[in-house]
Amino acid sequence: MRIILFGSPGVGKGTQAKILSEKQNIPHISTGDILRNAVKEKTELGIKAAEIMNKGELVPDNIMIGIIREVLMTEDCKNGFILDGFPRTVVQAKALDALFEELNIKDAVLVHITADENEIIKRLNGRRACKICGAIFSLKEIEGLTTCPKCSSENSFYLRDDDKEDVIRKRLKVYQTNTMPVLDYYLSKNRAITVNGLGTIEEVNENILNKLTEKVLNSI
Ligand code: AMP
Repeated sequence: MRIILFGSPGVGKGTQAKILSEKQNIPHISTGDILRNAVKEKTELGIKAAEIMNKGELVPDNIMIGIIREVLMTEDCKNGFILDGFPRTVVQAKALDALFEELNIKDAVLVHITADENEIIKRLNGRRACKICGAIFSLKEIEGLTTCPKCSSENSFYLRDDDKEDVIRKRLKVYQTNTMPVLDYYLSKNRAITVNGLGTIEEVNENILNKLTEKVLNSI
């Protein structure tokens, strides 16, 4: 199964990708996580990306395409993958198609998760990341906790710079302008499905799997 999870920042792509990755036993590839790791490691890419990410802007296409190319070529991705955060521009979508052709991949489906903008601002501003392992939690999940449930680090929760309200608004604007056209690109090729992102994590996940099954059955 090759899935491209698509939707505005904060719509729940990361959460859904993790569940799908476990259920289907295929890797979850988050370009945001790859970049955040590079920032943490202070690599050349990380130093360049940090400034762009903190402003809520997009890292240049050629860099992102190079990263995805390297990852999708690995043995791990041979039997399927879940892309989370890529493609974010039509240039990236076209480059991904060229890569799919090279790798003889014909079954990739874009899953568009929708949600209301106010709900998204509330969600992003109300989430915290662990500065040690990068895991993300809602304030409710970590209420009263001083250690990270994933890596047990003490007092490691923080509000990501790009989850502050002014940067969120910028990210949503970039999404509307640069990223939404990617959806039209996939719709025009009949390779997209839409799922309502409101509801419990399990409900959204079930909807995604049902719609994906329907899509695969219809294309046989
Ligand atoms: P995310 O965690 O997916 O919301 O990504 C966090 C940030 O990383 C974004 O706001 C961008 O600055 C950058 N980023 C992630 N994926 C991409 C991409 N495919 N193209 C350009 N920038 C990206």
